[in-house]
Amino acid sequence: MSGKTLSKNILSKNILSKNTPGKKTPLTNAVPAGKPARTKPSRATLPEGEYLCMYCPGKCCRYFALPIDTPETRREFDSVRWFLLHERATVFVDDGAWYLLVHTKCKHLREDNRCGIYENRPAICREYTTAKCEYEDLWVYDQYFELPEQVEEYREAVLNNACVRSPFPEG
Ligand code: SF4
Ligand code: SF4
Repeated sequence: MSGKTLSKNILSKNILSKNTPGKKTPLTNAVPAGKPARTKPSRATLPEGEYLCMYCPGKCCRYFALPIDTPETRREFDSVRWFLLHERATVFVDDGAWYLLVHTKCKHLREDNRCGIYENRPAICREYTTAKCEYEDLWVYDQYFELPEQVEEYREAVLNNACVRSPFPEG
């Protein structure tokens, strides 16, 4: 998982270009008449002098994630289930570590996907880097829970040492 996540290995990230002062090119989906549509380049094909953030909808400013304890007991799984009773909350597992992920946009992300408080942005934003950001992230995790029922099913499988896959439907 790449991302602006409050964890020991991600706190040292830095948004370099997203908020670079002087970047004037507005990001918009509208293509001016007579101009070719811009396609999102890969990291490898990014034109010299341009920034990944120029092609990004501000992915790193649209959520936050916090590490949580790995659930081991029925009560602890129930707490994870409680997280997922809330709108826009999900839980993912990456490299064995569990995280609460809340899909919510920063209040200061502007319509043009730039930071509205560049000079006063928090340290976690200052320290974030495009080098390992989620520009090309496919959002694939070891485990990803969106529904309370998924946690219940997983809990029963883990605590009962059963298969974590749902049975095939009959018929
Ligand atoms: S995800 Fe990466 S490219 Fe996109 S806005 Fe954040 S730092 Fe820039
Ligand atoms: S403060 Fe700025 S850089 Fe940080 S999350 Fe909000 S919009 Fe993004």
